[in-house]
Amino acid sequence: MSKYLTTIGLEVHAELHTNSKMWCGCKNDPRENRPNVNICEVCMAHPGTLPVANKEAIKKVITVGTAVGATIADFTEFDRKNYFYPDIPKGYQLSQYKLPIVSGGSINGVELTRIHLEEDTASSSHDNGTTLVNYNRAGVPLMELVTEPVVHSAEQAGDFARELQRILRYVGASEANMEMGQMRIEANISVSTDPNKFGTKVEVKNINSFAAVESAIKYEVERHIDLIESGGKVVQETRGWDENKQETFSQRKKENAHDYRYFPDPDLPKLYLSKLFDIESIKNSLPELPSAKKARYLSYNLKDDVVEILIDNVALARYFDNTITHFDMWDKDGLKEVSKAHVQAAANYLISDVLGLLKKENKELSESTLPAPRTFSVLINMTLDGELSSRGAKDLLPYVMNGQEIDIKKLAEEKGLIQKNDPELLKKIVAEVLAESEKQVAEYKSGKESMFMYFVGQCMKKSKGAGNPSLFQQLLKEALT
Ligand code: ADP
Ligand code: MG
Ligand code: ZN
Repeated sequence: MSKYLTTIGLEVHAELHTNSKMWCGCKNDPRENRPNVNICEVCMAHPGTLPVANKEAIKKVITVGTAVGATIADFTEFDRKNYFYPDIPKGYQLSQYKLPIVSGGSINGVELTRIHLEEDTASSSHDNGTTLVNYNRAGVPLMELVTEPVVHSAEQAGDFARELQRILRYVGASEANMEMGQMRIEANISVSTDPNKFGTKVEVKNINSFAAVESAIKYEVERHIDLIESGGKVVQETRGWDENKQETFSQRKKENAHDYRYFPDPDLPKLYLSKLFDIESIKNSLPELPSAKKARYLSYNLKDDVVEILIDNVALARYFDNTITHFDMWDKDGLKEVSKAHVQAAANYLISDVLGLLKKENKELSESTLPAPRTFSVLINMTLDGELSSRGAKDLLPYVMNGQEIDIKKLAEEKGLIQKNDPELLKKIVAEVLAESEKQVAEYKSGKESMFMYFVGQCMKKSKGAGNPSLFQQLLKEALT
């Protein structure tokens, strides 16, 4: 065991997925490429304008809070965080200081301190000595989640961030796309030789991917240990992450920290959340959360990598769940259970074949590019019942990737893909094959067992791929002994 204790606390910002901005009616559109089109007097802070709080945004923060088992405040308010910068038109950011909407809760066993609601800043770009500011993002609702200093490794921090992203997406709070800056992570890191005392913490910003979360933390931990071992001292500061160099760099020392002079905003009313929202019904209408979905998928004995792919893609998981509701339910120990074999086959066909086809044809996953769930479930049923070979199922897929309910049985008959299970017919084929293969039969009988698969192959060929291979094997064994 290392004699160093690493401690990490995370601060995560996520842009909320709402129709309009936090204090005005301007569109909240992260995909708008034209600068300064979604702006108005309010988000540009013209004198005399007043903010009106976006109820949808507050509800989304409450929803996230209920999803992580946190406490929702009865009463909350917004505060002014004062600082001057071109990306903050009012000269202050509306945020929450003493009374966050959400307190406590946990994700992956990592305790949360709070989740509060604030507004995003404009985005600036620096070019040739000029600074260009785009105010489309100014005033977009932004939630900030802060964890307790209870994370102890880079991997744990990465897992936490990935799980948070899933939760935000499952409950529809945020698209949480890190490349688009919709989810932004800051890591506070300290290293100590004394388990009862924290070391000096450093905050790392500008982390734009899960991989960068882990790399930045690993880099900082090593830097701290090197400093301590060489008799140096870690200074409390804010550092940035340089993705190209894969290292952190100093941005701002503690002594230059801002004094934000927080105070409650007098233009916004205090909010009695328990009167404005039915918290119980928000809690009761939560969707199945990623951890529960994962446990359910594992209970079908799906492979770990299959489960990861499914739970990381909300639309794919929804489609998969729709498909498996069409399978028959079996009574097991008084419980209705779906056949694991069917669920597993559906997952495998979905991930390798259906996704493979989409990729090949360069198509997005959507209702109209996937088979109708019921149609897909029939395809799986027929495969497991031996009516369709796995080859036949793959051959049929391209005809059903259009969201339409299709009569798979009819289609398979038309394409000559129904697998033949009629023993009389197959027996005839077996007899023909053996009669035509005198030499090979003699070899087989003199001990060359590998000949067996040759006979199976000939039978399949004679049946034009429609015969059931396992039935052929059984009949061949009977005929050869
Ligand atoms: P600040 O006032 O500097 O922003 P906070 O106490 O608000 O500090 O904590 C900010 C974040 O830093 C939280 O996520 C918290 O868990 C984390 N943190 C606090 N102390 C430490 C420490 N010694 N090591 C690592 N993280 C820490
Ligand atoms: Mg901080
Ligand atoms: Zn506006």
